[in-house]
Amino acid sequence: MELQKAILRKVGEAVTRFKMIREGDRIAVGFSGGKDSFTLLEALLLLRERAPIDFTVCAFTIEQGKFLKPIEPFREFLEARGVEWTYKVDNPSLRLLAEQPDHGCDLCSRFRRRAVYQIARELGANVIAFGHTADDFCESFLRNAMFTGRLSALPPITWSSKRDFRIIRPLLYVTEDLTRAYAGETGAPIIPCGCSMKTGTVRRSIRDIFTEFEKDYPHLKSTMLSAMGNINTGRLLDLRYLDLESSTGEEPAGPLAILQEDEVFTES
Ligand code: SF4
Repeated sequence: MELQKAILRKVGEAVTRFKMIREGDRIAVGFSGGKDSFTLLEALLLLRERAPIDFTVCAFTIEQGKFLKPIEPFREFLEARGVEWTYKVDNPSLRLLAEQPDHGCDLCSRFRRRAVYQIARELGANVIAFGHTADDFCESFLRNAMFTGRLSALPPITWSSKRDFRIIRPLLYVTEDLTRAYAGETGAPIIPCGCSMKTGTVRRSIRDIFTEFEKDYPHLKSTMLSAMGNINTGRLLDLRYLDLESSTGEEPAGPLAILQEDEVFTES
């Protein structure tokens, strides 16, 4: 119960801060049968009962050939909770897997995106919710900075290209140790995904970095999430955000003239 409360508080904070859910929304939850999307679905169902606005929640699963166990046991589990659940095998994804077994995440997620929009449309949803967690936000932030040369993570709220769907990630403040514990506590028949077992990937290496650092700094992820919402554009190198001329119209006296006290150069 304490765990559930903690998760709901964090989900509530994300939903409110980023205005994720609005009156009359029909939310389709991308449900992979894993601990994260399971926690997301449960949290939204509980929120629906308590929220001062009306919205509905349904769930869908796309089979892309990556599940390591049959997802069928979830049918009973979700029915018992009164969840409207749609399960679809995505044949183009299965063909991709057969023809290019080592295809990367880019192709896989492009195939999934097409299928997601199609199902959400069939379900009459205007909102699609994904179970990306605080871990995913922090990992993608590091991955982008280190491997793609961009400072970015995941959008908490965004729109499909034709703006027909609002896409939300309400678990952004929820870490995976919480989703793991919650799934264990409820006895949900969690389905592992083949990709989560892969070793030797960038994702795995970044996860290992976090595990190592968090032994000494347990609040690392929450600090990183705060950093993502507290950007000091004047201390980065993006010319779009730098004032190269002084705002008074005068030439700055030189780089040292605008240094602040805490910016001390030291020799190493
Ligand atoms: S991790 Fe696996 S399931 Fe996820 S996008 Fe990459 S290939 Fe697809």
